[in-house]
Amino acid sequence: MRAVAASVMAAALLAVMVPRAIGAEDAIGRLLRNQAEPAKNPGPSVTTKPRGPLPVVMSARIGEHQDRTRLVIELSDPVNLRAFALASPDRVVIDMPEVSWQLGAPPRPSGYGPVKSYRFGQFRAGNSRMVIDLSAPVTVSDTLVIPPTAGFGYRVVIDLFPASRAKFDAQAGWPADLKKRESDAEKLAALIAAQTPPEVRGKKIIVLDPGHGGLDSGAIGVNGLMEKDLALAQALKLARELRGRGYGVFLTRDNDSFVPHRQRVAFARAKKADLFIALHADSHPDASITGTSIYTLNDGRSDREAAALAKRENQSDVIAGVDLSGQNEPVAPILIGLAQRDTRNKSSEFAANALKSMGQVTDLLARSPHRSASLAVLVAPDVPAVLIELGYLSNRGDAKQMNTDSWRNRVAGAIADAVDAQFTRPSAAQAGR
Ligand SMILES: [Zn+2]
Repeated sequence: MRAVAASVMAAALLAVMVPRAIGAEDAIGRLLRNQAEPAKNPGPSVTTKPRGPLPVVMSARIGEHQDRTRLVIELSDPVNLRAFALASPDRVVIDMPEVSWQLGAPPRPSGYGPVKSYRFGQFRAGNSRMVIDLSAPVTVSDTLVIPPTAGFGYRVVIDLFPASRAKFDAQAGWPADLKKRESDAEKLAALIAAQTPPEVRGKKIIVLDPGHGGLDSGAIGVNGLMEKDLALAQALKLARELRGRGYGVFLTRDNDSFVPHRQRVAFARAKKADLFIALHADSHPDASITGTSIYTLNDGRSDREAAALAKRENQSDVIAGVDLSGQNEPVAPILIGLAQRDTRNKSSEFAANALKSMGQVTDLLARSPHRSASLAVLVAPDVPAVLIELGYLSNRGDAKQMNTDSWRNRVAGAIADAVDAQFTRPSAAQAGR
């Protein structure tokens, strides 16, 4: 990008300085107040779309200068935007109300500044984010908002200055008020999850968990198919199939939004799920590797491949900048120790059933398609759980067929057959909760 010109600097002088920790009483906060802010009587806000059109992000530019890296985000409307740093791995999170991203293809960072990569998208309903991965420690400037001038919308300017490790670590962490907002959002989600609609009473409850979502795309296929979209499409098909067969079905997400691991697990437990099925697709440097595999939880003694997969799949919370304080180990040994033998047995039994029926409609991973790994979404001690890697997005054939309706229908049918097999067996059918 063009370096910041004198005219822009002049505009910057007139601009509104927005302190990073903006308060509700702050006059500038009122000025910038956005429509996505909760209304007086928000009702079930997690399911309510904000009224009116969302502010649009029209462009995002990263300018690497000698003394700083400057990020400029251009918006149609003023929004209350917050930037903060998180450590291990080092990131800068830019948190904002829900916006519509209309960026086209954003420019890639050059690689010689501190910005390694970045991504953006929805974090929660009503809440969007940009997360910047850093290759070197920085300090984050206050956020500068430049009102519209000369054909530009509102421009938000954030500077990243080179800093020592000690200085970075000292400033890194979630701002307290955002931390509270997150825990409130999770509490609200748990309250909503605890409600059981009358139509599912007496039915076996299946919780489907489409992997990734929002600003976490998961793996990207050789054909451009994104894991998060595939997982959601497959989950919606499977939900329809299972409801048709008389099951009560709930999804941890039914749109393109991000859901933290612990919230997915809490959701399944709140629903008193009889079975939890996470849907994903894998990616491998060796493009010849193909086929479906199914994972159940183990206690951390994974082989190298399984450990690498767990690392990839458990990465979601890091990618989205979730507050991980107090849960640095996504799969803490203590949690696995609580897992009941019965839950584990049922998980394995379902994995075997699913491989049997899926093997009739699609190829399985050539070597040992039933695998185990320390996966953060499988840790509920009382909910039998599996994670299905539908296939390899890194393989041309797999990616192509996973993008077709016919394959998705066949696979949904096969997984539903396995659910039937699980619950019609007398031993399983008796084992209520
Ligand atoms: Zn995944």
